[in-house]
Amino acid sequence: MGPPGSGKGTQADRLAERVGVTRMSTGDLFRSHQERGTELGRLAEGYMKVGEYVPDDVTVRMVMEWIVAPEQAEGFVLDGFPRTIGQAEALDREAEGIGGIDRVIYMEVPRGELVARLTGRQVCRGCQSPYHVGFAPPAVRDVCDRCGGELYQRDDDKIGVVERRLGVYDQETGPVIDHYRRAGKLIGVDGTGTADDVERALSAATATGPD
Ligand SMILES: [Zn+2]
Repeated sequence: MGPPGSGKGTQADRLAERVGVTRMSTGDLFRSHQERGTELGRLAEGYMKVGEYVPDDVTVRMVMEWIVAPEQAEGFVLDGFPRTIGQAEALDREAEGIGGIDRVIYMEVPRGELVARLTGRQVCRGCQSPYHVGFAPPAVRDVCDRCGGELYQRDDDKIGVVERRLGVYDQETGPVIDHYRRAGKLIGVDGTGTADDVERALSAATATGPD
């Protein structure tokens, strides 16, 4: 778990690869259901089209169906789920039958750094290559190194939207973090530094167990 900009997607990929299981993000799961044209996919699409979060019961049904599939028998890494306390309670209930959730990793990054990471992102209009004004700048300002296209900031990464996204995260997901902390399953990992630094910290923390 971690707020937008905390690098949790990158670390979830690395963790899943290291322990030899599949990583699942709800975004990937929604896309897969839409491509297959399932009933749940059509339901989810209706909400996403108008920029709304998919309701917990729809998301939970998709995730549970995925979790109990034979491919996940050896375990799995969930990325971006549970996002709300309703999802967390449903997950705890459903996962009890398969041994429960072992650990919840929370990526700790100071708010100011999250804002800097998110608002500094740029994307090429031509080839969609990602850049960052501070951490991965192009050779020439606002120009793509690969294709010469113009770099721009997506609406999602503008300061007002970023602050709103972080506020929603605190409000909706803060209680989930408290829930797993109380359950003794939460492992806080320092999410600052390079992806390799964070991976080392995560690896060390998961070897010793919850705080
Ligand atoms: Zn480009």
